[in-house]
Order: sequence, then structure tokens, then C-alpha cells
Amino acid sequence: MRISHWIDGKSWTGDAERTGEVFDPATGEVRAHVDFAGDGQVAEAVGAAARAFPGWRDTSLAARTRILFAFRELLSARKDDLAKIITSEHGKVESDAAGEIARAIENVEYACGAAQMLKGGFSENASRGVDVFSIAQPLGVVGVISPFNFPAMVPLWFVPNAIACGNTVVLKPSEKDPSASVFIAELLAEAGLPPGVLNVLHGDKVAVDGLLTHPEVKAISFVGSTPIARYVYETGTSNGKRVQALGGAKNHMVVLPDADLDLAADAAVSAGFGSAGERCMAVSVVVAVDPIGDELVAKIAERMSRLRVGNGHDPDSEMGPLVTSAHRAKVGSYVDAGVDSGATLVVDGRDIAVEGGGFWLGPTLFDHVTPEMSIYTDEIFGPVLSVARAGSYDAALNLVNAGSYGNGTAIFTNDGRAARRFQNEVEVGMVGLNVPIPVPVGYYSFGGWKNSLFGDTHAYGPEGFHFFTRTKVVTSRWPDPSQGGINLGFPRNS
Ligand code: NAD
Repeated sequence: MRISHWIDGKSWTGDAERTGEVFDPATGEVRAHVDFAGDGQVAEAVGAAARAFPGWRDTSLAARTRILFAFRELLSARKDDLAKIITSEHGKVESDAAGEIARAIENVEYACGAAQMLKGGFSENASRGVDVFSIAQPLGVVGVISPFNFPAMVPLWFVPNAIACGNTVVLKPSEKDPSASVFIAELLAEAGLPPGVLNVLHGDKVAVDGLLTHPEVKAISFVGSTPIARYVYETGTSNGKRVQALGGAKNHMVVLPDADLDLAADAAVSAGFGSAGERCMAVSVVVAVDPIGDELVAKIAERMSRLRVGNGHDPDSEMGPLVTSAHRAKVGSYVDAGVDSGATLVVDGRDIAVEGGGFWLGPTLFDHVTPEMSIYTDEIFGPVLSVARAGSYDAALNLVNAGSYGNGTAIFTNDGRAARRFQNEVEVGMVGLNVPIPVPVGYYSFGGWKNSLFGDTHAYGPEGFHFFTRTKVVTSRWPDPSQGGINLGFPRNS
């Protein structure tokens, strides 16, 4: 099977100079080859988006909204097909893929409110006879660059809001699971989106660099790992673009001694091993505050023994494989490093036996993990959960705040005052109080702090509309001829 670019409302049929392999992670087999863009295809995609821009920015809000409503209905009707595509290339279980699509639909629904969101302000008589008003205008062509782990949701964090605001888009999805983006582009076309308003460009660094340096691209929304996010932010901004670049994460879940430990253990397992830990909001470190560490670790380990690992298309599976063989090897090497550094390996997932030859690693649990260990400091992005012990609330808070990432965090407690203190003191962008994965709903915005976000604007919601528009303020006076017209500051008859 060949997966190609979607440019100007149709599949690209040229000859690709380079292609990449797309695997079924559950079997390890190559399921498709994806075309990689060179400079020529970057120019074609950006050119199509630039040509579509004047017509799209002048398309009425009502017409744009109708297309988004139609897209919402199509996405909802075809969600099972999309979930299967996601599972076939990413590996996550279909129920999890369905969850990602549900969160994506939230963002489409939010974008359907564009007419409300794009209302400007108006001040009558700012001065006598002078009115002042503001207009939110689209930027032009915007680039969206997305990671492998949410192949439908992350593109849809940006695309609906960007087009609702009147921009045209070039989407560069992950080359590891590119089909979901093409499916989305086809559905949008079916919903009535004109050719060129959304283009999908596949590829790697060449495609990304092409977007980062193209003068017609006015803004970049990026989601991926921290080193690439930093690079995209620095390169994009030095090329004069507006950039929001969301990076990696290492999320802590603090469990205070008064917490409901069964609830906390359930949360740790679902947030640690859901999607095989390949989530930027996955819980990676549980911070157990004395004296509940031993009891909590036992409860987590007991639940892990019941986790069903298997092919994501099997409805009984709760956790699928890792995305590629290279990623499986990298995550496995962290488990080796954890053992070498002296952490207590409570559950070892390295020898898991699953039929099919895919990229498997079972759920793994370490206890007595300390801050100098690589399993503590690094984003592993796999099914490896660490438990660190803390002597007090303050020690736990200091651990969280000393981290270099600041994406998500959670606290489990029944003490409202402690929870309120935590929400105030913790240096992280998204906080859950007895909620392990506090991904904001579509009418708030998503973003971390520190090394989890470069730029000052979070993704989607109100900040998404802010990112995808620039404001113009008009000051107007309509002179009354009987009053002698406007004083332009120079003699009338000169
Ligand atoms: P990645 O950084 O490897 O890739 C992200 C995108 O950048 C892809 O489209 C890829 O093709 C491109 N890319 C890769 N290397 C590049 C290079 N050298 N130059 C230019 N472009 C390059 O990330 P990934 O492995 O696809 O995704 C996992 C990462 O994404 C994790 O670190 C995870 O935490 C992060 N993530 C963050 C969020 C968030 O909201 N903060 C959400 C999802 C994923």
C-alpha cells in the first residue's frame, strides 16, 4: 500500500524520491510505504494553501461553520473506521483510539463556535464622534506538525480552529502513522472544504525544515519531543513565524497518606500503561508520601498482573505494543538502566510473550526510584512506571517542581486544603485533583510549562483562536461636512 500527500484537494500522484516504511506494531510487518516530501512537494503544498487563502478568508463565517458541522457529523459516523486505522499503525487498543477521536471531536465542536469566538470589540464615542473597534483576522498559511502518539487528536487540536479562523493549513503528520491525517483530509473534503484549505504533507525533517523556512508559512503549531520542539521554535521564530511548540513530559502523580489508595492505584495503572505509556500526559512517576508506599506499590502491582496485553484490534486487549522496533529497544534499555542503577524492579515486562512478532514490552514497575536515575529524569514514553518515596507533602512538591518538564501532574488526597495548596504551588501547566490525566476539555486550552512548551500560547480552545488570528484595531471618524470636515493637520487648500 502507498500513502501519499494530499495537496489541493486530491492525492498526490508524482514519483517520490524517498519513502518510509509504516509498520503494524502488533505484527512487526510493513503495512505501507509513505511518500516523503522533498522541497518540490513542500512548495506544491504551500502553494496550494496560499492560492486557497484569499477565497477561504472571504468565505462567510456561516459557510465555514456549516462545513465544520458537516465534518463533525462525518467524523462521528466514521469513528470506528478511523479507530481501526489508528490501531493498525500506532498499536493502541481500539477503545483507546476511540477515546482519542472523542477528544478530537470536542475540538471540532469548539471550532463550530467560530462566529462567537471571532467577534471583535467595539467602543462607540471613544472620543467625540470617534469609534474604535477590533477585528480578528487570519494569518494566512499555517503549518501543523504532529507526533505519532495521537495521530487523529493532535492534528485536530489545531486544524479545525485554524480553518475556522480563515487560515489555510499544511499538516505534516508523523511519518510513523500517517494514514489518519489523510482520512481526516478526505472527510473534510467530503464535508465541503474547498481544495487547498487543508493539505497533508508526509515526511521527515526535510518537510519540517521546508515549512519552517518557507516565507508563505506564517505560523507553526508543533507537538513532539522536547529537543525537536526547541529546534522548531528557534528555527521558526528566527524565520519570522509565530510558533507554539509543545514538547515532551515527565508527569508526577503525588499520593498523600489520606488518599483512597484503591482509587490511586487504579489511576496509576490506567494513566501509566494506557496507550503503553505513549502519552505526553501519561503518569510516569508516582510519588508516594510516607507511610503508604509499600501498600500502594502492592496495590499497583496486583492490578498490573490483571492487565491484558495484546493486539489492539482484539476487544479484550487493554494495552497494545510500542510503535516501532527502535522505540521498543529504547524503552527496554531504560528498564535495563533502572535495574543497573539500583531501583527495585517490582514487575518486569521485558519477557512478555505475545503472539505475532510485534514490538512488545509488558507493563513494568520500579520502586525506590531516586532523582539521579535515568528512569526518573528522562521521558521514557513506554509502559514503565516508577515509584519514588517522599517523607512529606513538601518533599513531594519539591520533587515535582525540581523537574525540567511541567506538562501535567496530579495529586490524590481527600484533604481539600492540601489539594488547594498543591494547585497553587505546583509549577506545572495542567493539574489533576484526584484526576490522573487532566487533559483540559476543548473549551479550555492545553499546554505545559518549562520544557514542555516553547512559546507562550497553549493549544486549542480560546488560546487556539488567539494563536490563529491577529488583531487589527480601527479608529474611525465620519466627519460631518457642516462641521468643516476632518482636521488633517495641514491647511485645507494647500
Ligand atoms: P518527535 O519529536 O520525534 O516527532 C514529532 C514531529 O517532528 C514528527 O512530525 C516528526 O516527523 C518531526 N521530526 C522528528 N525529528 C525531526 C527533526 N530532527 N527535525 C525536524 N522535524 C522532526 O516526537 P514523536 O516521537 O513523534 O512523539 C512523541 C513525543 O511527543 C513525546 O516526547 C511526547 O511527550 C510528545 N508529545 C507532547 C505532547 C504535548 O502536548 N506536550 C502531546 C503529544 C506528544
